[in-house]
Amino acid sequence: MTTHATQAVTLPGSLNEAVAALAAMPAAVPVAGGTDLMASVNAGLLRPAALVGLGRISEIRGWQYQDGHALLGAGLTHARIGRPDFAALIPALAAAARAAGPPQIRNAGTLGGNIASAAATGDTLPVLAALEATLVIAGPGGARREVPVSHLLAGMEMLSPGELIGFVRVPLLHAPQTFLKATGRTGPGRALASVALVLDPARRGVRCAVGAVAPMPLRPLEAEQWVASLIDWDGERTLVPEALTAFGEYVAAACIPDAAPAPDGTQEQLPPAVLHLRRTVAALARRALGRALS
Ligand SMILES: Cc1cc2nc3c(=O)[nH]c(=O)nc-3n(C[C@H](O)[C@H](O)[C@H](O)COP(=O)(O)OP(=O)(O)OC[C@H]3O[C@@H](n4cnc5c(N)ncnc54)[C@H](O)[C@@H]3O)c2cc1C
Repeated sequence: MTTHATQAVTLPGSLNEAVAALAAMPAAVPVAGGTDLMASVNAGLLRPAALVGLGRISEIRGWQYQDGHALLGAGLTHARIGRPDFAALIPALAAAARAAGPPQIRNAGTLGGNIASAAATGDTLPVLAALEATLVIAGPGGARREVPVSHLLAGMEMLSPGELIGFVRVPLLHAPQTFLKATGRTGPGRALASVALVLDPARRGVRCAVGAVAPMPLRPLEAEQWVASLIDWDGERTLVPEALTAFGEYVAAACIPDAAPAPDGTQEQLPPAVLHLRRTVAALARRALGRALS
């Protein structure tokens, strides 16, 4: 990618060195794959005085197992996450990574960049919300703190200047999970709507998150609890088609509510585009649950 300005670029070899470089240059901005950041630079929206490149930090480019969880490095690319060995571990995250843009973007774009950009259309975000993943954030002096991904996306927690996302802690559920995305066009594209759905047999739970229809992924908690109560967790985990359809509609109505009544008490109709979005979410949620249970 080309840039309009020449910046000083530092390439630290460890997370702590990267945090120290940011502390030494408060005007510097971290860059991982650069797919979001350089697009902003090239569009003239951002002119960072200096860049701290994260591409040489090997400790955040892999993953390891820890207490029933996977600790994923923030520098994992979408292409790496999409490969079959990773898909066997966290299938919904692999499916989201495979859907995140065209190949050149997936080769460069990272998990940490997807989270830090926090775009409504970030494909990994609903999956991380449904999995109730947490972030390990690296700060000055080797400090580490852990926050739920959903808190960062909701603005309840922020990255302080000089902090970096180091790792993402994801529970390994050893159960079916799905990610489905509608783009409104053929081929790769940003999500019009997406649904991540995971089964959690140990907690007899269904967790679902809807992406792209709001600034952050939405969890339809009542719909999750309702459908989990219908499933025979000790027997065949199947549901009749009517229950799958009802779940889809429950999820869609929770995430895209009816229009507020007009002052005269009459019910406003949702505009056609919103009705279409609601139908799309309902179909995605129905299919996602059907696939997870099949
Ligand atoms: C043509 C195109 C198509 C795309 N399609 C999709 C798509 O379909 N789905 C999708 O989800 N995304 C898509 N994207 C967006 C983008 O590719 C992803 O969000 C990607 O994951 C960003 O990662 P990156 O490593 O390139 O981030 P960068 O561009 O390097 O950084 C993005 C932001 O995150 C910050 N950052 C990066 N790493 C860290 C870290 N470890 N800690 C703290 N802050 C950090 C940077 O300072 C910057 O503010 C697309 C982008 C383009 C240009």
